[in-house]
Amino acid sequence: MEIALRTEIPTYSGGLGVLAGDTLRSAGDLRLPLVAVTLVSRQGYFRQSIDADGRQVEQPDPWQPEHWADRLPAKVSVAIDGRTVWIGGWLYVIEAVGGGHEPVILLDTDLEENQPEDRAITNFLYGGDQAYRLCQEIVLGIGGIRMLEALNFDVRAYHLNEGHSALLTLELLSQCAYDEDVRRPGEARYDIPRVRAQCHFTTHTPIEAGHDRFPYDLVQSLLDDFVDGETLRQLAGRTDLNTTQLAFNLSEYVNGVAESHAETTKRMFPGYRITAITNGIHPHTWAHPAFSRLYDAHLPGWWLEPEVLIRADAALSDDQVWQSHTEAKLALIALVRAECGIELDPDVPLIGYARRMTQYKRPELFFTDLERLKAIAAQQPFQVVLAGKAHPRDAGGKRAIEMLHGFKRTLEGTVKVAFLPNYAMATALAMVAGADVWLNTPQPPMEASGTSGMKAALNGVPNLSVLDGWWKEGHIEGVTGWAIGGNQADAEAHRNDAASLYQLLESVVLPLYARRDGWIKVMKGAISRNASLFHSLRMMRRYAAEAYLE
Ligand SMILES: *Cc1c(COP(=O)(O)O)cnc(C)c1O
Repeated sequence: MEIALRTEIPTYSGGLGVLAGDTLRSAGDLRLPLVAVTLVSRQGYFRQSIDADGRQVEQPDPWQPEHWADRLPAKVSVAIDGRTVWIGGWLYVIEAVGGGHEPVILLDTDLEENQPEDRAITNFLYGGDQAYRLCQEIVLGIGGIRMLEALNFDVRAYHLNEGHSALLTLELLSQCAYDEDVRRPGEARYDIPRVRAQCHFTTHTPIEAGHDRFPYDLVQSLLDDFVDGETLRQLAGRTDLNTTQLAFNLSEYVNGVAESHAETTKRMFPGYRITAITNGIHPHTWAHPAFSRLYDAHLPGWWLEPEVLIRADAALSDDQVWQSHTEAKLALIALVRAECGIELDPDVPLIGYARRMTQYKRPELFFTDLERLKAIAAQQPFQVVLAGKAHPRDAGGKRAIEMLHGFKRTLEGTVKVAFLPNYAMATALAMVAGADVWLNTPQPPMEASGTSGMKAALNGVPNLSVLDGWWKEGHIEGVTGWAIGGNQADAEAHRNDAASLYQLLESVVLPLYARRDGWIKVMKGAISRNASLFHSLRMMRRYAAEAYLE
């Protein structure tokens, strides 16, 4: 549903889209033959600004596909609510550092043949109501397969990235329906094993709202009897059409995006074989130019085989690491000055926090006790840079943004806090490289993986994070960063997360920052022990070997 191709193309909302983009960029580096299908999302996700009261203001974020992509010659159609909806497409080509070219097809219903409401189906990413979303998923899944066929792609395997694309299985089912005349009563209507053999599914979140459910009367009214109703209920759930369950039942290979997420998913969906392939980030995309240059000079080949970063401790001098980091920090300070009019201090430790603003990420946890923060800052000054969008209908997320601005005002004069508006790929790169420490405080086990911390590690920025998602695998206390709430991720520990965070900040993190050599050792630890492992080339090699080629 979403792919982050570049900052100028707003067809993504967060980590899911960035991961899809990194997947393709890595496939390009490895020259794997992959084609991606997504929606053109002409009006983008939304552009965020912040008003005088610290509230999020949302504006459409339109882009012009013709500036970045080529119109495809093919047109296909799907039947929705008895109408014929025509689907065109755009071809965007990812030109990978490694020389590979990966095509991305952006499906577009804004065609003259269509009625006005159908022209709008591919306009807004995650906008509109349930019916709008179902129309989008019909276009993406059923239309997507038809477009690939119209373009003569010979597809060997389908990788369903989250349940949004699961309706593609319905098109595959309908293509392998048995002939009614020869089918005996009680026999299957479709060659289900054949569909399963072609599909692989990655689930990305344990959050219930992240799993689409459509009432069957809505499905019936939009799709009619496209697939036999009883078969559909067997595969996608009795009460409503659950796209995650549909994908589970029709995929040979299913995985979660970190070890602990796979375990959580097994509990949510018992009875399925679920593997873990921990996410990764695309090194060339997420290394600040200062670090790209450093790695090019001392660890050549790092962008294709980031495993060589394991030698970072010995191969990079302390001065070089510090200089590269300082370059990135000064760039972030300049960005904050330009965007927020706030002057951060290059000599004061800078805590970075940016992600989708939503309840389970607990963006306000750091500010639980403002008096305590002031007291710590009076002894050991620090500063904070924040960013993140809340989904326009996520009241809790929007309230969190407002609260963060309230805390920022309360702390004025003691702790400098900047909030960079309109979090996007470019802001993310500036922040993960320019901050001194990367903070994450989700509510376990809700953070399936998390990837911004991996980006920080690649730029020598240690993580200070609750043990959840990838950090449970990447954390070595005092070596790659620090675990909030200690090693024990039990319920008791979580209640004390804020206290643990303050204790770490006051007694471990800030004192170590003042001892430059000790700090740089942890920076190098993040590079050698995190960045060498949590990258998308490893991830793609595993998908290729364990799923696509099976
Ligand atoms: C990396 C990234 C994310 C995901 O970060 P998490 O740590 O998984 O929350 C979200 N948005 C943007 C723009 C990113 O670059």
